[in-house]
Parts: sequence; structure tokens; C-alpha cells
Amino acid sequence: MQDCLFCKIIKKELPAEIVYEDEQVLVFKDINPMAPVHLLIIPKKHITTLTDMDEEDTLLMGQVQLTAARLAVDMGFADGGFRLVNNCGQDAGQLVMHIHYHLLAGRPLNWPPG
Ligand code: AMP
Ligand code: ZN
Repeated sequence: MQDCLFCKIIKKELPAEIVYEDEQVLVFKDINPMAPVHLLIIPKKHITTLTDMDEEDTLLMGQVQLTAARLAVDMGFADGGFRLVNNCGQDAGQLVMHIHYHLLAGRPLNWPPG
């Protein structure tokens, strides 16, 4: 999508610290980290929010989650624990309208979130 920030990062029209990429999924460092590890995991297909997902997107979004889990293991913080978060819509604080998971790790994470 033309005016989407994350689509621009996917197309390399905007810089990002990319930590993983394949045909379907991109992972990059959050520009404003909330934890020692704060990654954003996105599908390359533009989907606006979780509620815009269709049946045809289930495999893709499964790949997004699997990528998060594998990165957690490979980067060595799976044993200590981590959090995978999707903010959906205004009340949840979604600012970028391209579906994404936040992967947070490296410190104890409070619950419930604010
Ligand atoms: P959300 O509030 O769930 O929509 O999260 C959007 C996230 O994108 C925030 O944590 C921002 O810090 C992050 N963000 C915004 N612009 C960029 C960028 N250019 N590169 C990396 N992360 C970004
Ligand atoms: Zn997009």
C-alpha cells in the first residue's frame, strides 16, 4: 500500500534495522524500544489490522508467529521468556496501520499492561 510506513520499509524505501527477512515475513528493530529486545514482526502482504485478516491469511499469519518463536529461540531469550503483542485499533494504541506483532524481551514484563 502506497502510503503505509511498513510497506515502505518492506520495499526498502525507508531504512530499518532488519534482523530477519524471507519471502513472506520481515522482522526489524522498533525505532523506540520498550525493552532491551523490541522487534516488529510483519507480513509483507499489507493487512491493516487483525480484524482485516481473511481465511486466506491464516497460513501467512502462522508464519509470522512461527518466525517470532524461532527468533526467540535462536536469539537466546526463549528460556527467560518474552511477550508477543498485537495492538489492534485505537484503544489498544495501534499507530501503524499495517498488522504487526511486537516481540519484547530482556527484562521482566509487567502484567496487566497499561
Ligand atoms: P503500534 O503502536 O502497535 O502501531 O506500534 C507501532 C510501532 O512502530 C511503535 O512501537 C513504533 O515505535 C514503531 N515504529 C514507528 N516507525 C518506525 C520505523 N520507521 N522503524 C521502526 N519502528 C517504527
Ligand atoms: Zn502496509
